[in-house]
Amino acid sequence: MQVRKVLTFLLAVVGLGLAASCATSPRMVWGDLAPHVQPALAKVDLDRLDQELVAWLGDYLRTDTTNPPGNETRGAELLATVLAQNGIGSQILEFAPGRGSLVARVRGTGKLPPLCLLSHIDVVTANAQQWPRDRGPLSGAVHEGEIWGRGALDMKSMGILELAVLVAVKRSGVALDRDLVLLAVADEEVDNRGIKHLVADHWDKIGCSHLVNEGGLGVRGALRADQTVFAISTAEKGLLWVKMTARGKSGHGSTPMPDRAPDRLLDALQRLRAKVAPVSFHPSLYATLGEVGAHLGGVQGYVLQRPALVEWLALDTLLAEPGSKAMLTNTIAVTGFFGAEQPNVVPDAVSAQLDCRLLPGTEPRAFLYELQKTVADPQVEFQVLHEAPASESPPDDPLFLALGRHAVIGRSDAVAGPLLSVGFTDSLWVRQKGVRAYGFVPVEVSREIAATFHGANERVPIAAVQRGMRVLLGAVVDFAAHR
Ligand SMILES: [Zn+2]
Repeated sequence: MQVRKVLTFLLAVVGLGLAASCATSPRMVWGDLAPHVQPALAKVDLDRLDQELVAWLGDYLRTDTTNPPGNETRGAELLATVLAQNGIGSQILEFAPGRGSLVARVRGTGKLPPLCLLSHIDVVTANAQQWPRDRGPLSGAVHEGEIWGRGALDMKSMGILELAVLVAVKRSGVALDRDLVLLAVADEEVDNRGIKHLVADHWDKIGCSHLVNEGGLGVRGALRADQTVFAISTAEKGLLWVKMTARGKSGHGSTPMPDRAPDRLLDALQRLRAKVAPVSFHPSLYATLGEVGAHLGGVQGYVLQRPALVEWLALDTLLAEPGSKAMLTNTIAVTGFFGAEQPNVVPDAVSAQLDCRLLPGTEPRAFLYELQKTVADPQVEFQVLHEAPASESPPDDPLFLALGRHAVIGRSDAVAGPLLSVGFTDSLWVRQKGVRAYGFVPVEVSREIAATFHGANERVPIAAVQRGMRVLLGAVVDFAAHR
C-alpha cells in the first residue's frame, strides 16, 4: 500500500511536470476579412491583369540587369513605361550612371502613413551553359506553364506583382487611406547601394510606416507533400564580416618552423570550429512549427505544437540540417583566404575572411569579443569589414496579419507563420528608419523550384504568380483601403 501511494505521488509529480513543460505554442489568429475588402476587390479586373502580368514579367526577365554591373535603369524604365500607360507617374533616381531605382506613388487620403511595396531590380549572375538552350537566364521563355529566367523568383516576379497591385488600385479607383509607394531598387545583390541612396537622400519621397519586401515565400511539400507553408519574414539575422590576420616570421617552406603565420591561422580557425554554438529558439520558429503541427495532426503534429517537446525530440534533427541550424545558432563561415602566394615561401601574414551571422540578441561587437577570446592569440588580429545587428518587426502587426490571412484564405491545405531569415535584405535599412518591414513573396512553389534561387533553371509557375497577385492585392487592400 505504501509503495503504491509513493508511486501514485511520483506519477502525479511527473505528470504535472510534463503537462507544465508541454504547453502548446499559441496559435496564429489571422482574423476575418473586414467588410471593406470584398467590395473594393470586386472593382478589379483580375482576368485582364492575369494576362498582362505574364507579358510584363517576360519583358522584365529579358531586360538584362545582372549585377555586376547592374544597369538597373533599364529595368526601372520598363516599369516606368507600364506605370505611365496606366496614368501613374514615377521617378528614376540614380546613385551612379545607369544604376537607377524607381519610386512611384498612388495617392490615398493621407489619413495614414504610406505603405511601400519594395523589390530589387538587379539579379545575380547566371551561367547560361547550365540552363536549357531555349530557356536561358535572359529568355523569359514560357514552358509547360512556367516562366524561366534569372530573377523569376529573386525577385522580378515580386516586382511585377507589386507593379500589378499599383495598376489594379489605380484602374479600379479603390480609395486608400494610405499612399501606395512602389520602390524598385538597384544593387540589392551586391552592396545595397540603391536602398542606402534612397534612405539617405530621398526618404522625403517615401516616408512609409510599413513595407513589403522579399524574405519568405510559399513552399509546397516542405514537410508533407500535401501541405504548403507560407513563411513571412519578420526578422533577419545580423552580420559581422571580419578579416582575421595571423602574423609570424617569414621563412623557407622547406623547413617548417613552429608558430609561423599560416599555422597560427590554422590553429585559430580550428579553435573557432571546435566551439559549440549555443542554441536559441526564436519565437517565430515555435509559432510556425505550431501552425504546421496543428495542420499535420498525429504524433508529429502533437510534438511540433509543443516547444518543450520540439527541443527534446527534434533538436538533433534541426541541428543536423544546415538551414534550420542557421536559424538556431550564431554561425561562422570561412569565405576566403589571402596572403599565401608562393609555394615555397612562408609569408609573415596570412588572413581568412569570416562571414558571421548573428541571432537577434547577439550584438556584433559582443560576438567579435567572443571570437577574440576563443582564438586567444595576440598574434591574430581582427578587422571588421561590415557589421549590422539583427533587425525585427513585430508579428502582431495588422500588415503581417493581412499577409498571412490572404495567403491562407480558402486554403485548407496551407498554413502561414513568421520566419527568422538567416540572410539580410534591403529591409535592414528601412527598419533603421523605424519602418515595419515584412518579407513575403506570396508565390507558392515546389521545393525543387525553390532550390533554383541564385542557381540554374530559375523559374516560376505562371499560375502561382497569378494567385500571388490576388494574395498581395488582397492584403494591400485589407491593410490600406479606406474604411
Ligand atoms: Zn533578392
